[in-house]
Amino acid sequence: MAFVWWSSLTAAGQGLLGMLDSAEQARLESLDRPADRGRSMVGAALLRAAVASHSGIAPADVVVDRTCEECGAPHGAPRIVNPGRAAPWVSVSHSGLLIVVALSGRGPVGVDVQRVADLEDPAAAPEWVRREVLFKARSGSPHWDGSARELEAPLPGYLAALALPAGDGQDLVIRNWP
Ligand SMILES: [Zn+2]
Repeated sequence: MAFVWWSSLTAAGQGLLGMLDSAEQARLESLDRPADRGRSMVGAALLRAAVASHSGIAPADVVVDRTCEECGAPHGAPRIVNPGRAAPWVSVSHSGLLIVVALSGRGPVGVDVQRVADLEDPAAAPEWVRREVLFKARSGSPHWDGSARELEAPLPGYLAALALPAGDGQDLVIRNWP
């Protein structure tokens, strides 16, 4: 079973800060533009909410590793490392007003949302998001075997796609948060 959790920039607020760890809070501090901060805040909180719901733990207890494979800085793709528990595979994306998290217990996933108006070539948007999710899923494992599908975005003017491991996604659960 795979999960997709949607949220929106309007969910951003000081109340979410308590869910985040010190690395996530430091990342927010480093962003100058309020919209970037909001998307980063909601993305980190939504990831924790989704994993917490899946794993039966508190959002603040979710352990997220964002170590970049190239330079070691904490800005890489998130990996869940809940000690002593099976950790799900996750992927996060945000664009414009939308934030999305995908989660699978079976293998690497990739999710991407894109505000079409932000793309240089809007006609290429479906291919763009599809390539992006396949890239994300494959970077989770070189042996990744799965497929990409279109994902319906909850707002007009956005395109989204989802890559799931083979055998997952028969019962895709879509949630809106909060
Ligand atoms: Zn890096």
